[in-house]
Amino acid sequence: MSASDFQGIPKVFYSYQTQKAFCNCLVCKCYLLDDETYVIEKAYKKHLGYTAQDVIFDYAICLACALKIRQEFSTDSLAKIDAYFSKHLVMSSIPLQRNPIDIDQCLTQCAIKKTSVTELTNYQIYGHFHGNKLIKSISPYLISQSAIEEIIPLISNDTQDMLNDFYNCHLNPDPEMFVPKQPSDQLIFI
Ligand SMILES: [Zn+2]
Repeated sequence: MSASDFQGIPKVFYSYQTQKAFCNCLVCKCYLLDDETYVIEKAYKKHLGYTAQDVIFDYAICLACALKIRQEFSTDSLAKIDAYFSKHLVMSSIPLQRNPIDIDQCLTQCAIKKTSVTELTNYQIYGHFHGNKLIKSISPYLISQSAIEEIIPLISNDTQDMLNDFYNCHLNPDPEMFVPKQPSDQLIFI
């Protein structure tokens, strides 16, 4: 990949806690900003009628750790999730371009339901990064809670338990924030 395949990390993907780029993998703590490929996930809750939004949790996870977790998914769960996404998710393939991609445009609606972010109260955003750059060929995307609620039943109980354990072990949402009753309602590796 050349320099034009990357652009700076958008502020929306900064850590809520530090207001800076994530430095370490949530799981193995490896340093991300030199030469690591990783995914950032952020979950938001908004109150209808207000523009302010709460970050329920956010984290960065290196590719090696993300793949390891994916390997723990049951074969059945993985097959169903993959089928769901290939049916519903039409990612607009962005031809590699010199100009930076428009992040606001990428995150303006649910990638599956096409609901506008202005009408959403719960949603998650995802982005793929390498070192201190965003990988432009995998544009960031947004998934609404209603899409996540369709995906949850596709996941086997064992896999849900595994995700719940991961959530309890690694993520510690501010107790004042909305804490999901079922953590895996909020946590999907895509
Ligand atoms: Zn890691």
